[in-house]
Amino acid sequence: MTLSIEVEATHGPARATTITTARGTVTTPCFMPVGTRGTVRAVETEDLERLGAQIVLGNTYHLLFRPGPGTVERLGGIHGFADWSGHVLTDSGGYQVFSLSPKVDDDGVTFRSTYDGDEYRLTPEGAVAVQTALGADIQMVLDQCPPLPSPDPVVREAVERTALWAARARRAFVDLGADDRYQFGIVQGGVDAAMRVESAQRTTDIGFEGYGIGGLSVGEDRDAMLAALAATIAHLPEDRPRYLMGVGDPVGIVEAIALGVDLFDCVLPTRFGRHGTILSSEGRFNIKNRRFADDAGPLDPMCPCRVCQRYSRAYLRHLANVHEPTAARLSTLHNLAWTLRLTERAREAVRDGTLESVRTEMRALYD
Ligand SMILES: [Zn+2]
Repeated sequence: MTLSIEVEATHGPARATTITTARGTVTTPCFMPVGTRGTVRAVETEDLERLGAQIVLGNTYHLLFRPGPGTVERLGGIHGFADWSGHVLTDSGGYQVFSLSPKVDDDGVTFRSTYDGDEYRLTPEGAVAVQTALGADIQMVLDQCPPLPSPDPVVREAVERTALWAARARRAFVDLGADDRYQFGIVQGGVDAAMRVESAQRTTDIGFEGYGIGGLSVGEDRDAMLAALAATIAHLPEDRPRYLMGVGDPVGIVEAIALGVDLFDCVLPTRFGRHGTILSSEGRFNIKNRRFADDAGPLDPMCPCRVCQRYSRAYLRHLANVHEPTAARLSTLHNLAWTLRLTERAREAVRDGTLESVRTEMRALYD
């Protein structure tokens, strides 16, 4: 079946939607926890179910080397391997590969693996094959993502290659004939509005089930990011999901929702959690701080998550300071619950016309 999207409410460009796929439905705005190596670090599948996560992101780069796509495929794809029945979205592996100073040509990218030091090659067609073996519901095309700031010719080259590769990836995907899987194209173009518009047009001309907005939150300031995002979204179709790749800080999420983004992923809530940094309705703090030594209150008095219902700041501080693995797990569970709840609040706010107050609140707490 085709992927469809029903826009249930709008508030300016912001929207609350339900996406329907062969796997089921996803309500948006939606935050996707990142399952780097086949699990979201420090938590298990049952935790994600209890948290109400709808889509989990799998990192192709890591699964490519350990345990390898063949193993994952034989064990039922990521769904069977991890016993996860929600949606799986995989990246192409390109983002990690481009951080390894690879050799890039028009055909693909050659890099040395951080796992075994050997030379590997990733092409648009190869990225489709790997993500198909991993069993992703939604695949991302291989794109070229330059850091910012980059000189104009570098951004231009990324737009050209991304368009060229997107067309090849689409052909390879369509050739599979899988009607229960979907593929998203990716818009590049740095913070240059004209290049963003061109990249959006070239990507939508090829035609995908949804669109990733890549190459943002890679060094530019937030105002530049939001301007580039607005320029991009103006040229994306309303009847396709929009996914802002790699943005997951509270202000970034609500500002992007206000501009019309549906999907997000980011390692921030889980990485923060492992280091004791807590997201809360009182702003961000580190639970290891001495001031929590005798604090009997929850991490966040406004948070309905299991961790906040049960444990005190003093207990969680103690666990973190003696390096108990449980500290990382509980902080991660809270941060994920908090971030998922933020997108749910934004969804309600779009419906109620109160998104402005959520924006004001997040800016006051996190800017
Ligand atoms: Zn909580």
